[in-house]
Amino acid sequence: MRNWIVAGNWKMHNTTGESIALAQAIKEGTKDIKNGEVIIAPPFTSLFSVGAAIKGTQVSLAAQNMHHEDKGAFTGEIAPGMLKDVGCTYVIIGHSERRKYFHESDEDVNLKVKKALAVGLKPILCVGETEDERVKGVTQSIIDTQIKKALSGVENIDNVVIAYEPVWAIGTGKVATSAQAEEVHHFIRGILKELYGAVSKDIRILYGGSVTKDNISELIGMENIDGALVGGASLKPDAFLGIINQITGKK
Ligand code: PEP
Repeated sequence: MRNWIVAGNWKMHNTTGESIALAQAIKEGTKDIKNGEVIIAPPFTSLFSVGAAIKGTQVSLAAQNMHHEDKGAFTGEIAPGMLKDVGCTYVIIGHSERRKYFHESDEDVNLKVKKALAVGLKPILCVGETEDERVKGVTQSIIDTQIKKALSGVENIDNVVIAYEPVWAIGTGKVATSAQAEEVHHFIRGILKELYGAVSKDIRILYGGSVTKDNISELIGMENIDGALVGGASLKPDAFLGIINQITGKK
């Protein structure tokens, strides 16, 4: 039985004070959760303060990105060790916004996944097709390529979480149907089985793309959907906790 995950990606939102207040509310609202994990990914500037606010609780800290080198002359970048230093256990890698606006390639994503694992951070690896790719009927080949390239040279995926995030569903209010999402999640689990064998059944695969408390129930009811990566609805305690409450009622 896989434990569920709900991860909140705060993107470029919240000052330090706003981040602490949101983290406190999430901490309070998730005191009694069982069989699952809550992860929050504040912007870099809030990681230290939020890390301190949730230390020792059931809420885990994630970064939204990292550089693949340990240190060096990379102005504006953040090293994996710095994330560990402020209490991160997870790091989101290959989010479609990074791929689109910052030109991250599958090769960059692969370097980051390998480095995260090497330093003891758990990558939340994001994959997903654009609307155009879905219309052209190439969703599966896009996902296959993204996963295989991202995991190239990765021998052990015990600490990897996959997030299937159709690009057309992110921030658009256009959520994938549970059948559409499950079809891709099932396909992803098949790829993991091909690459890693039996361990694939234990890997958590999250859905991301306009998840709210009103649509999570159907999604989480699907066999291969183990939780959600949430953007917009992770910025308000009621909206985020509402998603978690729906899941805890189901799984
Ligand atoms: C995301 O950015 O990972 C995301 C899923 O955003 P939203 O929930 O706002 O669609």
